[in-house]
Amino acid sequence: MEIETRPDIMSMNQEELTNFTLSLGEAKFRAGQLYKWMHAGADFDEMTNLPKTFRNKLAATADYRLPKIERKLVSKKDGTIKYLFGLTDGECVESVLMKYEYGSSLCVSSQAGCRMGCRFCASTLSGRVRNLTPSEILGQVAVASRDSGERIRSIVMMGIGEPLDNYENVLRFLRLVGDENGLGIGMRRISLSTCGIVPNIRRLADEGVPVTLSVSLHAYDDEKRKALMPIAYKYSIEELLGACRYYFEKTGRRVSFEYTLISGENDSVEDAASLANILRKYMKVPSHVNLIMLNEVDETGLKTVDRAAAKRFEEELKRRGQNATIRRRLGSDIDASCGQLRLSKLAETESGI
Ligand code: SAH
Repeated sequence: MEIETRPDIMSMNQEELTNFTLSLGEAKFRAGQLYKWMHAGADFDEMTNLPKTFRNKLAATADYRLPKIERKLVSKKDGTIKYLFGLTDGECVESVLMKYEYGSSLCVSSQAGCRMGCRFCASTLSGRVRNLTPSEILGQVAVASRDSGERIRSIVMMGIGEPLDNYENVLRFLRLVGDENGLGIGMRRISLSTCGIVPNIRRLADEGVPVTLSVSLHAYDDEKRKALMPIAYKYSIEELLGACRYYFEKTGRRVSFEYTLISGENDSVEDAASLANILRKYMKVPSHVNLIMLNEVDETGLKTVDRAAAKRFEEELKRRGQNATIRRRLGSDIDASCGQLRLSKLAETESGI
């Protein structure tokens, strides 16, 4: 038996959607209207400027299903909202909406689960189930914006999954979300975080989508990094920083490095000194270090550092001429770091709650 696959219209760019619209016997300008509605997270019933006949045809032939809000947690401290989104096959992912003075930022997921195996991370504990489609990534933005009533000014791809392990779909998402006829979120307001898939960093540098690249480093040498991140067996820090320099040269965008401080693993002042050294040696161009205090995940047994240790680390980097900041934690009362809500949902499903 052949399984019917309907065209995923929210993953289409304007040209593809126009062709699809024409194939249904509708006028070309209807595609533009439909595109806007979908990017705003509307369902067919709400698309009131489209003829009912067109909407019926779409409902009968196309695949258009937005992520469904399964759970929503709102921080009493700072208004951060965490969404658990259900996807059409029962999978779920998380998005986090953070409110800043200058507008809101949404952290989105790119895969259901993750196969990168980083030791400290909740998202990878149950492996990778599948890649998200472009529409599933865009749908998180559309639904979160609509539900919260917030205008989303910036996006961080730091949710569940490794974006450069889902390259094609993520690239298409970036082009869709940046499109002026849709949400128009410019590449300068998008950060993409990667554990460091070197060939894909180089590829991304050449695509003409100059997002801010954030690279998860977490250690200053290969042996230490291997103990935390399996990807370090595949690419050395030297190769990784070479690709980051290439990214800077091609896009003109300063690269950020994420460095999660884990007690007794990578948090000493000597670690900070060595980190500043390797960045100077291999990166050569200006970069920024984002220090993250480990968000403890019970299953990993790893411990976080105190504020004073983080401060000492930051100061040592700065003393050596390396830009650095300690990342502010939002939504600490709702476990806003990604991966944990999905994990607890999986545990509930398994135990039949
Ligand atoms: N796959 C991407 C996105 C991951 S999440 C990547 O690896 O970069 C964004 C950042 O949070 C990464 O730097 C990741 O290493 C870090 N991170 C993951 N789990 C964490 C935890 N429990 N505490 C602190 N930071 C964590």
